[in-house]
Parts: sequence; structure tokens; C-alpha cells
Amino acid sequence: MSSARRTGGVSYWWADLGLPEPRDPLAGDEEVDVAVVGAGYTGLWTAYYLRELRPDLDIRVVEQRFAGYGASGRNGGWLSASVTGGLDGYARTHPRSEVARFQLAMNDAVDEVIRVVERYGIDAEVRRGGTLLVARNAAQATRAHAAGATARRWPETGARLLDADAADARIRVAGTQVALWEPHCARIHPARLARGLTDTVRARGVRIHEGTTVRVIAPGRVETDRGTLRARHIIRATEGFTARLAGERRTWVPMNSSMIVTDPLPEDAWAAIGWEHHDTLEDFAHVYSYAQRTADGRIAIGGRGHPYRFASRTDLDGDIPDRTVQHLRDVLCAWFPPLREIGVAHAWSGVLGVPRNWRATVGYDAASGLGWAGGYVGTGVTATNLAGRTLADLVAGERTERTTLPWVDQRARTWEPEPLRWLGIHGLYRAYGLADRREARGARRTSWIARMGDRISGRG
Ligand SMILES: Cc1cc2nc3c(=O)[nH]c(=O)nc-3n(C[C@H](O)[C@H](O)[C@H](O)COP(=O)(O)OP(=O)(O)OC[C@H]3O[C@@H](n4cnc5c(N)ncnc54)[C@H](O)[C@@H]3O)c2cc1C
Repeated sequence: MSSARRTGGVSYWWADLGLPEPRDPLAGDEEVDVAVVGAGYTGLWTAYYLRELRPDLDIRVVEQRFAGYGASGRNGGWLSASVTGGLDGYARTHPRSEVARFQLAMNDAVDEVIRVVERYGIDAEVRRGGTLLVARNAAQATRAHAAGATARRWPETGARLLDADAADARIRVAGTQVALWEPHCARIHPARLARGLTDTVRARGVRIHEGTTVRVIAPGRVETDRGTLRARHIIRATEGFTARLAGERRTWVPMNSSMIVTDPLPEDAWAAIGWEHHDTLEDFAHVYSYAQRTADGRIAIGGRGHPYRFASRTDLDGDIPDRTVQHLRDVLCAWFPPLREIGVAHAWSGVLGVPRNWRATVGYDAASGLGWAGGYVGTGVTATNLAGRTLADLVAGERTERTTLPWVDQRARTWEPEPLRWLGIHGLYRAYGLADRREARGARRTSWIARMGDRISGRG
């Protein structure tokens, strides 16, 4: 029982709701105030907050397929306050107080998403249960203790170590030795959030031109397959698809993440594994896996399958190979042996954007009128909210507590040309896989292979 009954089709989340038909494509050339390229969470939040700040502006969002078609409609549904790139990483380049402020802004962004969802009655299946990160071998436990020490240095995260019994009381993951629990996280249904935000933004007077592909972004104009939008302010919110735009091939690499969702679990299976608080769940492996308990009683689990395609090509509709389904199913059964017989209902994948320094960024250049946000490296569900709010402030010309956060206007160097890019990324994930296998066989410390991978890739 290795393969899924259904693969691709964008995602289980969209299959659950029904794929929307693209609406309101651009009908020829137009002149507007603001053009946002990409209707994922980044583009939608930007439009939402800018509408609040400047109701006088004509704001358009342009989307190649339908709103929520990208990672925003395919992700693991972790609304998490985790700072991409890590607090210690930022503390090497910014004052401690600024980094702490960034963490607090991310904590608040979790609350803010929930506030908006409640205000507009968006049925995003939000359940706030925190995050449990489990260590299942000695080397992972060493990393968990190091993460606990980091959490004590950064009390703003609210994270704390749990011993095996306390971890089991939340979720019974086989072999857990120690765990880290972070309070600022909620589980969501990704496509429901995307659909609800889309409806909200439209109802507030923003036009979203779906079925319209942008070819070129330049100061003052967005060229699409259906005409040109002239705009004073242009926001690039294309994340994992950015490499397909003219001139952006080496800006952020599109990295794949893959997911499976099980059939609904019977009550006795839930009784065996616990998980009453609906925490999101991850492990301390280098090639880590992440999971959520869905509102319809399933487990959705994801991880890095085939990480990267040559020349930054992006898969479009989320197909994934059988061996990736098998791998995710193996992880699920290792975590939860009572689920050995459970079926896999659906498997899919999506792309996320990774900058060369593995840190997310948001910025706006007032001279050219060009802004951007992305490079969330797989933790964008919350960060897109803060990014959109920040972009709205920047476009409106307002200096706020958000516009001076450490990630604003960060620029990373571009990625290496091919074949170096492909070799580097595949080499890195091969090294991580090897390190995980050594650690599973009993190595007590983080494998030197993984540490070297971190240093060479710029992740460490
Ligand atoms: C499988 C998977 C699991 C993940 N799990 C989590 C998680 O649990 N928690 C978390 O925080 N993050 C997670 N992420 C990452 C998170 O989903 C993203 O960081 C976030 O959704 C990015 O939103 P976005 O709007 O920037 O990009 P996207 O949602 O990818 O939106 C970009 C949009 O731009 C459109 N577009 C692109 N190019 C063009 C063009 N040329 N013309 C017109 N339109 C264009 C696309 O169609 C797309 O709709 C996951 C990602 C994946 C793939």
C-alpha cells in the first residue's frame, strides 16, 4: 500500500473544496495605481492592508491560474511564528533588541491572521495548539537540547523543552526521547484561508485578474499575456515561481516540498496516539518531516521529496513520484506504528522560494516603485501576513514599527549558474539524508556531514 489513490491535482486542500475557475482575466492594457503579481498569501495580504491604508488607490492583483494556486493552497497548514533563518543568524548582523522585536512581530502576526479570519468569518479551520518538535535518536536529542538552550536565550519564542513523558502526553510519537514545544502556532486549512482571503479582498474592492500570466516586470509596467498594466507601484509576490520571470532566474531557487494525507483515522487510532491539542508536529531530522491533524480527522504529513529540478524548472500541478509517497508513509509509520495499515488518500507537491542566504525578505524601492516579498524557505504562512502588512506600509510611505524590522530590504547574492546549482542542492540533501541515516544507527552527535553541508550551503 505505497502509492496514493490520487496524486497532483494541485493539492488535497483544493480537491477538498473543488478547484475554482479563474475569474476576471485582464482584458487588455490598463492604467492603475498598484499592480501586485501573484495571488498567494503575500499578494493577497498586501492588497488587503493597502486597501485599509489607502482606499483611494486602484489596486489590481494578477494571477496566472487562480488565487491560492501556489504554495499558499498546498502547504502543511502551520501558522507558525518561526523566523526563517533563525534568531541567532539575525543576531550576527543585527542588535539583539531588533531580533527580539522581529520575533514578537511574528508572534503577533499569528494572532493577526486569526483576528482577520474571525472578523470576516473565514472558515480556515484554525486550531491553536502550538508546535511539538520531537527528537527520536541521540543526535536529534543533542540538537533538541541545543534548541532548548537557544529558547532560553530568546524567551520571546516562549519555547520550552519537554521530557519524553510530557511530549507523549501531547502526541505519542514512537521513540521520542525529548521534545521542544513552541506555543505560537496554529493549524489551518491552507486553501480555505486562501479562498477566504480572496473573497475578502475582492469584497473590499480589489480586482484579482486570474488566468493572466506576467512575463515581464519593469518600473511602471507589468507585461502579461493579456495586456500591459501600467502602475506607479508594482509588487512581485511570486515566491517559488520567481525564477520563471525574465531576469529573475537565479534570485530564489524553487525548492519542492511534498505532502500526503491519510484516510480518516478511526477513533481507536486517535486514542492510541493522542494528539488532542492539535499541535503541529515536526522532527529534528536534517531532512525533517512536518505534520498536522486535520479538521476532518486525517494526518497530513510533508517533507522534502525530490528537492530541486535542473535549471530552476517548477512543477505546476503538484505531481509527485511514488517513491516520495513511500518515503512519507514510512516516516508516518515510524512515528505512529499503530497506523501501519492506514491508506494514503492524496499526495501532492508545491514549490517554495529559497534565497542564497536562506533568509526571507521584504522590500520596496520608492525610486523605481518596485517591491517584493518572499524567500520564506518553507515557513511563509505567517510571514506572508507580516510581509504584506509591511509592503502596504512601505507603498503608502508610512514609517512604522514593521518597516524597520531586520528582514526589510535584505538582499542576498544570486545563486550559482547551472550545473553548480543542481549539484550543490542535490549534494546538500544527499548529505543530510546520509547524516540522518548515520544518526538513526546510533551516532550520538550531529553528523559532521550535515554540519559541513550547512556551512557550504550558507544555511548554518
Ligand atoms: C508542500 C508545502 C508545504 C508547506 N508547509 C508550510 C507550513 O506548514 N507552514 C509555513 O509557514 N509554510 C509552509 N510552506 C511555505 C508556504 O506555503 C509559502 O511560504 C507561502 O504560501 C508563500 O506564499 P506566497 O504568496 O509568497 O507564494 P505562493 O502561494 O506560491 O503564491 C505565488 C503566486 O504567484 C502566482 N504567479 C507566479 N508567477 C506568476 C506570473 N508570472 N504571473 C502571474 N502569476 C504568477 C502563482 O500562480 C501563485 O499563485 C509550505 C510550502 C509547500 C510547497
